[in-house]
Amino acid sequence: MYLSELFQKKKCLFSCEIFPPKKNSEIETVYRTISGLQQLHPDFISVTCGAGGSAVEDNLTVRIASHVKEKYGIEPLAHLTCVNTSRNNLEETIVFLKKNRIENVLALRGDRVDGNTATDFAYAAELISLIKRKGNFYIAAACYPEGHPESSNRTEEIRHLKEKVEAGASHLISQLFFNNENFYAFINEVHTAGVHVPIEAGIMPAVDKRLIEKIVSLCSATLPPKLSRILSRFEKHPSMLFEAGIDYATEQIIDLISSGVQGIHLYTMNNPVVAEKIIHNIGGLLMEVNGRRP
Ligand code: FAD
Repeated sequence: MYLSELFQKKKCLFSCEIFPPKKNSEIETVYRTISGLQQLHPDFISVTCGAGGSAVEDNLTVRIASHVKEKYGIEPLAHLTCVNTSRNNLEETIVFLKKNRIENVLALRGDRVDGNTATDFAYAAELISLIKRKGNFYIAAACYPEGHPESSNRTEEIRHLKEKVEAGASHLISQLFFNNENFYAFINEVHTAGVHVPIEAGIMPAVDKRLIEKIVSLCSATLPPKLSRILSRFEKHPSMLFEAGIDYATEQIIDLISSGVQGIHLYTMNNPVVAEKIIHNIGGLLMEVNGRRP
């Protein structure tokens, strides 16, 4: 099923992101995560891919996405990156996606390895055009409410975002953020630029201080003082930080849903308990906005 069907049926989707197991970990570890998420009935599950451009990694993403679909009956969204790899490898992966009946792809550039610019594809929009030419896929793309780290010019960045939509992206998933006001300002800018595809808000519950600080330093999301205080106060009390991080994310999501966001994309960190707690808190509200009784 194309994800467009879900957006037609529901006012606000709930989706989860998982990643393939790290080297040395068994693939079964991620299958256990998916099994935990299945009980929460996400609208779709997205599966990340490495930015190394290796066929082995891409195929692992496709295999896991296929498992999400065939074993658990949940629609998968397979991530695909285009830097650090060749056109041939990407074309083979697209064939493999089709063979595995994967219909939805999140087309990404990926981060350049060691600044390598000598690849067949420089930007995600080029990958979107390739996927469009090679088959009937539903294509999503990434967006950055607080700006992409490489971008110094907001107007240019929004123009490049529009190019991705014009190339064939039907929906955008945002980078994680902790300040909803920044997301709302971004949505306004995107609408003003004439981009009107659904935008899902990327939410990562801040349940692990070191992880959050590392991610924030990489993706240039800002930490609001309120969240910084929570992270410092409960740094040495993991269970309290867990509860406080879930509460903060819950508040963010309630505000986003109240403001009419079209989807919540939860960065689960492969921890189904995080997703379970969030759904426990907001599941009723989601049902309400989607016209079903909690
Ligand atoms: P692009 O859209 O190509 O943009 C990259 C930069 O180039 C931006 O600054 C943009 O403004 C600029 N730009 C675009 N077009 C042009 C142009 N024509 N001329 C000049 N500048 C231009 N990474 C992974 O490795 N694996 C994953 O699974 C993964 N999943 C992600 C999921 C989400 C929801 C998000 C938000 C990010 C994800 N990433 C993933 C990270 C992503 O690959 C990086 O942020 C990467 O640096 C940019 O990818 P992009 O697709 O947004 O690139």
